[in-house]
Amino acid sequence: MIQYQYDNKNIIKKRAYITQEFMKLSPNIKSKRIKEISPEDIKILFELYDKVFLNKHLENNFPGNFKFSLSKRMTRSAGLTLCPKNIGERKPEEVIIEIRIGVNFFFQYHLLERDKKVCEIQSHHALEALQLVLEHEICHVIEFIYFHQSSCKGNQFKTIARNLFGHTSSYHELPSNREIAKEKFNLHIGDKITFDFEEKILEGMIYAINKRATVMVPDKKGQYADKEGNKYNKYYVPVGKIKKCEIKG
Ligand SMILES: [Zn+2]
Repeated sequence: MIQYQYDNKNIIKKRAYITQEFMKLSPNIKSKRIKEISPEDIKILFELYDKVFLNKHLENNFPGNFKFSLSKRMTRSAGLTLCPKNIGERKPEEVIIEIRIGVNFFFQYHLLERDKKVCEIQSHHALEALQLVLEHEICHVIEFIYFHQSSCKGNQFKTIARNLFGHTSSYHELPSNREIAKEKFNLHIGDKITFDFEEKILEGMIYAINKRATVMVPDKKGQYADKEGNKYNKYYVPVGKIKKCEIKG
């Protein structure tokens, strides 16, 4: 079991050292802003953490494999650790633990200016936010390996996260698509809006905001109908492409 315990000063120093080392090693990320990212970047960052915080404990003691993946669909969680449910019954060398990162949070990090805490720690740039999210996932990895299950609501997890990384919560406050749509583009569910579609300007209403905005556009031949029998077609529109309707009259 991993018994390291660091004080806050030491944690900040190690985290900042990893930021610098990572920018030297990463093929895509050469500054604190994240414009491009690949699974290889997460692998490099993970290995740096194993080296700097865990004295290569995972590399030297875990015979299984790690997989790193990216998702553009994650709209709430910024990170996820996936482990086979029957990890205890499998041969350790056959176990694959996957860390998946929700990349949009980091691409969009700079779009809103406000505090962006991750696990109750103030982040100062997108790369640091990614590091904090990965730190959280590393705690899941440790719990999965040693206890075969993991929950960031549990006391055991909280102790690991606090001892290793000084985390005192399991939540992030990184801007979500919905918040960016609202704050930066002033878009809300129910707004009447226009957008360009195949050289036409369509007018509709925002029905939902996830990765993109869901816009219902009135159309006699539409596939969707409301209670009154009005028909609509559904479009998924990037929030940056939406224009608010001008108030007429
Ligand atoms: Zn968690």
